[in-house]
Amino acid sequence: MKIAVLAGDGIGTEIVAEAVKVLKALDLKIEMESALVGGVAFDAHGHPLPPATLALAKASDAVLFGAVGDWKYDKLERQFRPEQAILGLRKELGLFANFRPAICYEELVDASSLKPELIAGLDILIIRELTGDIYFGQPRGRRTAVDGHFPGSEEAFDTMRYSRPEIERIAHVAFDAARKRSKRVTSVDKNNVLETSQLWKDVMVEVAKQYPDVVLDHMLVDNAAMQLVKEPKKFDVVVTGNMFGDILSDEASMLTGSIGMLPSASLNASNQGLYEPSHGSAPDIAGKGIANPLATILSAAMMLRFSLGQAESALRIEAAVKAVLAKGLRTADIYGKGGAGITKVSTLEMGNAVVAALV
Ligand code: NAD
Repeated sequence: MKIAVLAGDGIGTEIVAEAVKVLKALDLKIEMESALVGGVAFDAHGHPLPPATLALAKASDAVLFGAVGDWKYDKLERQFRPEQAILGLRKELGLFANFRPAICYEELVDASSLKPELIAGLDILIIRELTGDIYFGQPRGRRTAVDGHFPGSEEAFDTMRYSRPEIERIAHVAFDAARKRSKRVTSVDKNNVLETSQLWKDVMVEVAKQYPDVVLDHMLVDNAAMQLVKEPKKFDVVVTGNMFGDILSDEASMLTGSIGMLPSASLNASNQGLYEPSHGSAPDIAGKGIANPLATILSAAMMLRFSLGQAESALRIEAAVKAVLAKGLRTADIYGKGGAGITKVSTLEMGNAVVAALV
């Protein structure tokens, strides 16, 4: 088993170090090799995804990824911005299915901005299509009017597109996942306005016929955004396109109290995957040693389960995370109002505590 460790920028290095520590403590035969990605790779090699980093990712069973980005790169041409590294890895590795579980841990019910009764026991899975949609559509561009061909002096455009095979394969992923859960799928689109979404809905309905044991319903994205905060527990598996999934999964993550708790997995057809926390590089807290490493540690658990066939070890990590929360250990983002039995810990202390709690 070989994994590429791409820590990236900002808090990436701090949180990935803790996940690597936990993986090493499991004493599995995993070869780990690190490489630069994102802004640090641009600084060193002039590109956010240097060829050597991409080659390492391709030659590995899985990628453990931290985060990329910093406001200081905002003025760079788009192709050189740190975030392009993730889009490049998704495209090059064919990572089309993004799994984002949003689970509310009992101990963190009070960290959510919603009332405890709305989120206690929350366990939803957002499945986002990753390689199509407006982020990869052609044409895209920006132009300035020269002879009045369009109103205004300047315009920019991105094209939303999906093909039938792209929708079919993500539909199968969602229905298969639902079979292992409560056998319900909610497909989210905007078919009342967008042709892309009408195709999405039609294909979902067709694929659903192969899964008679799974109940499919449909929801418009604006309603889904509202229902997620009104009655989140009514969802189980949610499947949606790239852009809607980007937004809804961040919304769902905050239901659980902190974006610092939520792992994610992006898989291709052969279960090779990229595993990363749902959050970004958090430049505002980078270098302070206060970032929550649990999302990254839980992403490493997903990696063991989905790409490395080590489900038992994944369960050990997840149980250790529950144990440290039960002990009252909290990084600043989930500390809330504190209280008796609650201890504020650093990134490093949280990682050490997870290692100590492994049984
Ligand atoms: P962010 O997720 O980095 O941070 C949002 C807020 O959440 C910040 O207040 C941050 O301090 C907090 N936060 C995030 N992770 C945390 C953790 N583990 N522990 C405690 N607090 C945490 O989003 P942003 O500020 O909008 O973006 C910062 C940079 O990250 C940008 O350059 C953006 O492009 C990039 N980004 C990268 C990814 C990725 O690498 N996959 C994803 C999203 C954003």
